[in-house]
Amino acid sequence: MDITRLLDPVAPASFGSEMIDPFGRSITYLRVSVTDRCDFRCVYCMAEDMTFLPKRDLLSLEELDRLASCFVEKGVKRLRLTGGEPLVRKNIMHLIRSLSRHLESGALEELTLTTNGSQLARFAPELADCGVRRLNVSLDTLDPDKFRQITRWGELDKVMAGIRAAQAVGIRVKLNAVALKGFNEGEIPSMIEWAHGEGIDFTLIETMPLGEIDEDRTDQYLPLSKVRADLADRWTLRDIPYRTGGPARYVEVAETGGRLGFITPMTHNFCESCNRVRITCTGTLFMCLGQEDAADLRAPLRASEGNELLSNAIDEAIGRKPKGHDFVIDRTTRKPSVSRHMSVTGG
Ligand code: SAM
Ligand code: SF4
Repeated sequence: MDITRLLDPVAPASFGSEMIDPFGRSITYLRVSVTDRCDFRCVYCMAEDMTFLPKRDLLSLEELDRLASCFVEKGVKRLRLTGGEPLVRKNIMHLIRSLSRHLESGALEELTLTTNGSQLARFAPELADCGVRRLNVSLDTLDPDKFRQITRWGELDKVMAGIRAAQAVGIRVKLNAVALKGFNEGEIPSMIEWAHGEGIDFTLIETMPLGEIDEDRTDQYLPLSKVRADLADRWTLRDIPYRTGGPARYVEVAETGGRLGFITPMTHNFCESCNRVRITCTGTLFMCLGQEDAADLRAPLRASEGNELLSNAIDEAIGRKPKGHDFVIDRTTRKPSVSRHMSVTGG
């Protein structure tokens, strides 16, 4: 028996250290959706009248901690909290503070978040204090009216204040923007110029067919191959080997001197190097963002105080991680390829 478990029976045990899937991919990156709720309703992400999970179905912060810590014990080096909006979960800083112990111990290399930035001004100093060094902020436009339109009621000023607050405490901000036909298509170059002028990396994301929304996705879908070709007419884009552990592929824009990333699940299949899995706020493990197969970890988590059952359930699920996804957006397939929203699995 592991000595730490004699001292502390709920400490994660060292059952089988590394998680290797059937295709030889080592799982070192975990995204945890800490809530499905959000203070925005981005049109490509959520319907206006979303039904959220009943609060009783959510894992407690202590359970999320135990679950994430078990993954750290099993070789996860990077942990990203997401949602919904992670910073609207009540007492979220308790969880972040607690998880930061894995940074201190050296077990975890990175603890980070994907956020809409609305609450960042309030939380940035404490996040920095907990060892958060990088944040992804999602921002699809720099125009306050368009921002209100895409988020249905968000205020751009608050997000900007949040970005500044994070930078002021030394957190590196990366911006993520979903490329949306007829919405921000024309604004992409000026957003890149602005971000690079601020020393901020900028990443474009293709819309993915996740969950029913109020609009037609074929109207929103803008292939990044086209965006990239348009940008290449304007600027010199040089492929660079820079990686952040995620699926983005980067170029350097010679004219701005900044980095530009492309996340292209639809036009380029990035599955072969996938090192990640995701857990929802109810403890469901998704081995692939683009597939329905999942494993319930809440039952083994709650079944005993030790982590043996949980660890076995994780191993069994990793053994089923699929080779890749098969997203489709076309006019004949009106239904989303995957019925759950991004806010459930976490972006
Ligand atoms: N609320 C936080 C935020 O907006 O950053 C974290 C959760 S959000 C679901 C994570 C990312 O997923 C955001 O960058 C968002 O733009 C993106 N996203 C949401 N729905 C998407 C979809 N259907 N296709 C592509 N990206 C999507
Ligand atoms: Fe909320 Fe993020 Fe989805 Fe927008 S993309 S509705 S901010 S979860």
